[in-house]
Amino acid sequence: MAAEKRTLLSVRNLKKYFPVKSGVFMRTTGYVRAVDDVSFSVREGETLGLVGESGCGKSTTGRTVLRLIEPTEGEVEFDGTSLTKLSSEEMRRLRRDMQMVFQDPFASLNPRMTIGDILEEPLIVHGIGTPQERKEQVRELLHLVGMNEDHMHRYPHQFSGGQRQRIGIARAVALKPRLIVADEPVSALDVSIQSQVLNLLEDLQEQFGLTYLFIAHDLSVVRHISDRVGVMYLGRLVELADRDELYDCPLHPYTQALLSAVPVPDPDAKRERIILQGDVPSPADPPRGCAFHPRCPHVMDICREVRPEFRDRGGGHFVACHLVDK
Ligand code: SF4
Repeated sequence: MAAEKRTLLSVRNLKKYFPVKSGVFMRTTGYVRAVDDVSFSVREGETLGLVGESGCGKSTTGRTVLRLIEPTEGEVEFDGTSLTKLSSEEMRRLRRDMQMVFQDPFASLNPRMTIGDILEEPLIVHGIGTPQERKEQVRELLHLVGMNEDHMHRYPHQFSGGQRQRIGIARAVALKPRLIVADEPVSALDVSIQSQVLNLLEDLQEQFGLTYLFIAHDLSVVRHISDRVGVMYLGRLVELADRDELYDCPLHPYTQALLSAVPVPDPDAKRERIILQGDVPSPADPPRGCAFHPRCPHVMDICREVRPEFRDRGGGHFVACHLVDK
């Protein structure tokens, strides 16, 4: 039997609240609960997908995990080291191991720098190699992501969206990280280019044993790349399971509704579309009890009062729903 892979990233009770300020004196009058008590772990070499509608807190979760924004509460452990307790200097050193790929590579690449300089920059910051060795590494990075060394002297605006995302990925792997948080890495790309970039990410994962936290709103994309998938709603995880288990047997009514909207390739396969009523409530004033209850087709009295626990229902299939408890 294959040995269970060890946990690389462990997130416990993570919260990120943003203050809402108003009035002449800009007093804090409330908090937007962007991430509200989220716990999960990612095993070494695994891809954990995080899905949910826009504003559900998945991107804030990714950034808070890397401490690009400071958490309000909670614990993040990377390979046994608690990140929340590290000084900024210790965190800077550990960042080599934890990188991010952004949704919009154009916004994240400095338009005044050549691609060669952009890729060399992280190597300089971390004091890696001589100028000659760094140039060689930049060449290798470009080849690694399917580009060539002639591209070194060009600027970001001279590339297509897909090429720019390849450059963003090359920059993320330049320091040979162990974990990459990819935040909607293909959602700005044409569908035809999306699969090329996803295949590149998979190839790099295999080659370097990378671990991914992959954030996206597109369930088909997440299914393609993930080993396990977590579904977020209003700052909380509502379901998390192995990819096939989640897509074939979703237990939470919100997951069921999301999946019912995904087109199926087989025209004979019937799937009833579940239309959710109402809008997503404000994360500054989330509903009592289960946050999904104003939109849930199966709502019960208990749902309006008591928040369901996010629990393992067997085989690592976590759900937060009173219906499953019954
Ligand atoms: Fe629906 Fe109740 Fe389950 Fe929430 S706890 S998803 S309201 S059945």
